[in-house]
Amino acid sequence: MDSTSLLSRMAALQPAMLADIGALVACESPSADLSAIARSADAVARVGEQRLGVPPERIVVDGRVHLRWRFGLGAPRVLLLCHHDTVWPLGTLARIPFSVTDGVLRGPGCFDMKAGLVLALHAVTELADRTGVTLLVTADEEIGSPSSRQLIEAEAADCAAALVLEASADGGALKTERKGTSLYRVQVHGRAAHAGLEPERGVNATVELARQVLALTSIADADHGTTVTPTLMSAGSTVNTVPASGELAVDVRVRTCAEQDRVEAAMRALAPALPGARLEVVGGPNRPPLAASASAELFHRAAGLAASLGLPPLTCAAVGGGSDGNFTAGVGVPTLDGLGAVGGGAHAENEHVLVDALAPRAALLAALVEELLASPR
Ligand SMILES: [Zn+2]
Repeated sequence: MDSTSLLSRMAALQPAMLADIGALVACESPSADLSAIARSADAVARVGEQRLGVPPERIVVDGRVHLRWRFGLGAPRVLLLCHHDTVWPLGTLARIPFSVTDGVLRGPGCFDMKAGLVLALHAVTELADRTGVTLLVTADEEIGSPSSRQLIEAEAADCAAALVLEASADGGALKTERKGTSLYRVQVHGRAAHAGLEPERGVNATVELARQVLALTSIADADHGTTVTPTLMSAGSTVNTVPASGELAVDVRVRTCAEQDRVEAAMRALAPALPGARLEVVGGPNRPPLAASASAELFHRAAGLAASLGLPPLTCAAVGGGSDGNFTAGVGVPTLDGLGAVGGGAHAENEHVLVDALAPRAALLAALVEELLASPR
């Protein structure tokens, strides 16, 4: 692909990209509102069909509409991963309308990630050969992807790469590492007794929880980036009763699967400290980590392509929050995230997209997909 002509072709598409982002932002899509999500899926299908020439498959899971464009299943395959839901409730648009002023685009969900979705549509239109490309647009990323996780993992399974169009980090940095999460609840079962008359006959769940809090925090490993954070805690029934039961929530963040496994084993091995107390540990790994090793090779390629397109040097960032890229990395597929819009203010009032960066980002994505289809490893 001639890099100069790719960049200038994308620059010529900028007015169309702005119109498409405007059309998608105008259709509000809070994750929890199924009818809003259905209307948004219609809007994405309409814009996508106009650009790609074919309608998407509509995949409805638990009442949520996910969209998929598959351009042949021949090897190698590349997955472009987007979502069309946002964190913004209906009515936000009245307060923050779609606008483009002085090179800055605004509107609910523009940065996370309707602009990224439009970049993907336009990058695919510019490919000389789309065979092997799948564009998946899910509807529940902002609430942890309960209805799309299986679809994402199945679609990614035999792909050479998953490219995630989430918003970039500061200054357009790609997201090359995301921590994995595990969530636990530690339930303590003790024995009630009157706190004044015969406390010695009780087994104090609050005291047991205190011992567990201290035991838990020692599972963390700062050197490996593993945090184990006790969060919500409750115990007892009245102020003058030895507590018979209690519960503690634990938030775990890890950089590697090995650490996620180590913490899982340590949580399962927790033992009660007080005679007569009993522990139950429920929960476990939620999102696997997107480890730096899953993105290194793809980032290297993207950086090389950015240079040959004459773009500023690409930067990368490690972030604590998760995305659907955690799931594709979790099934062993090389994954590069944060390829979407450049801007800022995700989930915040000042959410915005820099218009000048749209064409270069779309060109970079098209060049990366083309190279991956030509030489997947
Ligand atoms: Zn997002």
